[in-house]
Amino acid sequence: MRAKLVVGNWKMNGSLGANAKLLQAVVPRLAELKGAQCGVCVPFPYLAQVQSLLSGAGIWWGAQNLNDHAEGAYTGEVSAAMLRDFGCRWVIVGHSERRALYAEDSGWVARKFKSAQRAGLTPILCVGETLEQRDAGKTESVVSSQLDAVVELNGAGALQNAVIAYEPVWAIGTGRTATPQQAQAVHRMLRERVSLADPEAANVSILYGGSVKAANASGLFAMPDIDGGLIGGASLAPDEFVSICSSAAN
Ligand code: PEP
Repeated sequence: MRAKLVVGNWKMNGSLGANAKLLQAVVPRLAELKGAQCGVCVPFPYLAQVQSLLSGAGIWWGAQNLNDHAEGAYTGEVSAAMLRDFGCRWVIVGHSERRALYAEDSGWVARKFKSAQRAGLTPILCVGETLEQRDAGKTESVVSSQLDAVVELNGAGALQNAVIAYEPVWAIGTGRTATPQQAQAVHRMLRERVSLADPEAANVSILYGGSVKAANASGLFAMPDIDGGLIGGASLAPDEFVSICSSAAN
């Protein structure tokens, strides 16, 4: 049995005051949950704050992006080692918003993945198809090629120390969720692909993301290949997030 994992992606939201309020509301309740690991990926400027508020609380934290270089003349960028300095466990790579808005292609995402692992961070690799691609029957080929780019650069063994998040683009921030069956079908396919590439990575955690809320979380998390969720909007609402995490703990 793989332990369930629920990670909040705050995206570009928050303030010192709002974050403190949110964490004060969720931390004591999440700390009581058994059987699920929960955490948050926050904007860079708030890493010090979450490090201070979450250290020792049994809740992990991470970042939402990183640069693929280790250091140097990359003004405005943040390296994996800097994220480690702030105690990050994870970093999200290849989120669909970055692929779409900042033209991050799969090769670049693979290099970010490498950079994260080299510094001891666990990359959360996001893959997912657009509605147009799904309607054209291309879901499998799109998510496979996003995964394969990472394997080509890093080797299949790299998937042993990673988390994959299947996030259909049409479900992110739209209120439209994949049904548990739709998500399970893609998760199964991804797990089979990972297992073929490296049998020892077969138990990689594969999270579902895309308009997960308290009302639909248990149905999704009950699927055999869905190991938890990457939660955007609902991670900013304390009761919703706690309830989603509780569904994973059941
Ligand atoms: C996300 O940003 O990764 C996400 C899944 O967003 P939402 O839950 O808001 O759809």
